[in-house]
Amino acid sequence: MRSLNEPLSDARPMSGYEDLRVVSGPRSGAAIAIALHSTALGPALGGVRMWHYDSAAQGIADALRLARAMTYKAAAAGLDLGGGKGVICALGRERPVGELRRRMLLDFGDAVESLEGRYVTAEDVGTSAADMAVIAERTAHVVGLPTERGGRGDPSPLTARGVYAAIGACLEHCFGNASASGIRVCVVGVGNVGSRLARMLASAGAELTISDIDPRARTLAEELGAAWVDPEKAITADCDVLAPCALGGAIDAATIERLHCQIVCGSANNVLSDERLAGALAGSGILFAPDFIANAGGLINVYAELHDLDSEVVLRLVDQIASTVRRILEAADRNGVTPLAAAQEQALERLQAATVAAA
Ligand code: NAD
Repeated sequence: MRSLNEPLSDARPMSGYEDLRVVSGPRSGAAIAIALHSTALGPALGGVRMWHYDSAAQGIADALRLARAMTYKAAAAGLDLGGGKGVICALGRERPVGELRRRMLLDFGDAVESLEGRYVTAEDVGTSAADMAVIAERTAHVVGLPTERGGRGDPSPLTARGVYAAIGACLEHCFGNASASGIRVCVVGVGNVGSRLARMLASAGAELTISDIDPRARTLAEELGAAWVDPEKAITADCDVLAPCALGGAIDAATIERLHCQIVCGSANNVLSDERLAGALAGSGILFAPDFIANAGGLINVYAELHDLDSEVVLRLVDQIASTVRRILEAADRNGVTPLAAAQEQALERLQAATVAAA
């Protein structure tokens, strides 16, 4: 099976994809790509990235790579969504603003509309809720709108709740009890998600350590009665649960040997610098909850906007992240594979079942 972040083969870059639209924006001249990996489970949902690439080809390759990752993320999280991704190649290194930005977004909206609902766009790196409102001038297939336009707003509370649920499932698997009471947790990065997670853990009676490169976060440590650890020592802090909630790549080959935790479960995307490290973590007896499962609350937030779900249903979906993690950990044990491989396998099984049913 192909792994989520595996580079695309140059020889067959479109193998396994449903569609790829590449246009030169008629208003802006910007290169725009929309990659549609799969709609087997539902419309292909994935954010639009506005980024400077050295060439349009690099932007297209990014869209293809990220679209496939979205398919697996949605399938593994049990959502009826496919995977897609949009890229708007910024013309220079400066962030496009004003009329040029607006023209790029309108061009992108037309490209989304041309896919007739097979692709639904949302915010991603370099784009905002306000940008989604501009895209909505050209297409209805957009989520992540500002709240005054019917959007669901900041996804961080749901993401934090999902990570908390995932931590509970990991604790149950390791210690036979999902309660965080008395459990030593180190939250690395207390921004939008991490700060909310830290509050939930503190309320549950966890013995909390927090860290952030922003020294202002010390105030949160004081408020929650948490210990503080400097960022350069945080990943290797002695704890039961390490919750990386900052940037991706926090765990690399060198850090694994120095980890002093039993569980790694946080919100940061692509927390392993290389997916193959999942094997090394398992070899060291450390349970790793795949980040794309633990942080699926953010995706559930836009899924809810797409289907206009009420809050109760949304919270239930987020809390179900615990059962998804449980299922993955059990399958990993049963089949002697890493939780990451088990999650990818389960995603693939859902996709194959949907493909067979549609045939
Ligand atoms: P954020 O920018 O609000 O918070 C990140 C925090 O990490 C900041 O306070 C920053 O100062 C700190 N930080 C950065 N580098 C650090 C380091 N080396 N050591 C310690 N602290 C460091 O971001 P966020 O929205 O809270 O997202 C956190 C992570 O979760 C990101 O990887 C994001 O992609 C992922 N994620 C977020 C959501 C969401 O709903 N916001 C959803 C899915 C995934």
